[in-house]
Amino acid sequence: MKLLNNTPIPDAILEPLLRKAGRAVGARTQRVVVQVNRATSHVTSCGMAYSATWVRWKGGSNRKLTTDKGAFKISLPLRSPTERPHIKKYRDLRYDPLTVAQRFFAVARHEWGHIREYQTGDYWRLPNSKRHPVMDLSGRVQKAKRRIPHDARPEEIRVENYAWDADEKGKDKDWAAEEIQALAIALRESGVE
Ligand SMILES: [Zn+2]
Repeated sequence: MKLLNNTPIPDAILEPLLRKAGRAVGARTQRVVVQVNRATSHVTSCGMAYSATWVRWKGGSNRKLTTDKGAFKISLPLRSPTERPHIKKYRDLRYDPLTVAQRFFAVARHEWGHIREYQTGDYWRLPNSKRHPVMDLSGRVQKAKRRIPHDARPEEIRVENYAWDADEKGKDKDWAAEEIQALAIALRESGVE
């Protein structure tokens, strides 16, 4: 994994957690570029995966980094002295380091699910919201005016299933518990003077 860490949390804490999240869903983690940024939300992470053989992302001294079929960005909410959430739907939630760490792991695992599909080629072989037209119940092909809503996209449903499978196997909770705990401790100490 090539970690581009734009947060004050040490690489030694983020890297093992991210690797485990990838292995949970069967992705090859070794040569994938992962960029971690500070989150806009104070409580939850966001992620975005890219099918790419190389990227040039801030944090990598602006070099062209080759990657094993995929790369993703993920955000991490840091504790701030003010803790003034500016996303309305999260306003009532307080910053809880353990919950933040658990969500970070869950979002990372989801993004790795996309990477896995780029690596195996499943994304291109199986239906995906970019390449396949939408069919209605009568079998008519719809001319989609807009893309399928995010959560209903076939690739999103598959990726959620990989995460589901990992949970079923009971891998995660014990498996990354130590890494999640370590991140929670680092977050608790972060950002507050
Ligand atoms: Zn997704």
